[in-house]
Amino acid sequence: MLNIVLFGPPGAGKGTQSQHLVDTYNLIHLSTGDIFRRNIKEGTELGKLAQSYMNEGKLVPDEVTIQMLKAELLEVDDAPGFIFDGFPRTEAQAVALDNLLKEMNTSITAMIALEVPEEELKMRLAERAKTSGRSDDADPAVIQKRIDVYNAETLPVKGYYERSGKYKGINGVGTIEDVTRRLIEVINTLS
Ligand code: AMP
Repeated sequence: MLNIVLFGPPGAGKGTQSQHLVDTYNLIHLSTGDIFRRNIKEGTELGKLAQSYMNEGKLVPDEVTIQMLKAELLEVDDAPGFIFDGFPRTEAQAVALDNLLKEMNTSITAMIALEVPEEELKMRLAERAKTSGRSDDADPAVIQKRIDVYNAETLPVKGYYERSGKYKGINGVGTIEDVTRRLIEVINTLS
């Protein structure tokens, strides 16, 4: 199985690039942000709980997020592999993911990080706000909070994968096609 964690700050292009990788490698795309937004739309208890955190640009608590991801993983059978987008965002989530995949007799192949400077992220998110309908993209204070939370809580997850030799960083600046090409180059070197 090819199991990729697509990593990077908000606005790095994880969702967009995931779509391209899904098509190229026939992977199952699991985006925790998308799953939370779906729950909010459907008015579920999980959605109600997640919404207050998301509106403020904070992380939804680990217990809730891990349980949700576990349920999603268990629903899939016969997957050729997964692309995890927006998960793990804490070291506790990374450990939980390793354990879940172990139970499925598989493991993470690599974490690939999209590296994009902060000023470019802010520009991209402000631009995305015009079409995404996401309130967390529309407010500069919430954008800043999400970037701060990424630096404080999520960036350490990079070290977790570096320690196991699974971290790969690529330049996330350029056209969508440029970045897809860089991703494919890295993925094709993975055994
Ligand atoms: P995203 O669509 O990945 O930008 O996520 C949008 C929001 O959903 C984040 O700002 C968090 O509030 C929440 N969220 C998504 N994934 C996670 C996660 N793995 N852990 C905690 N909160 C998350």
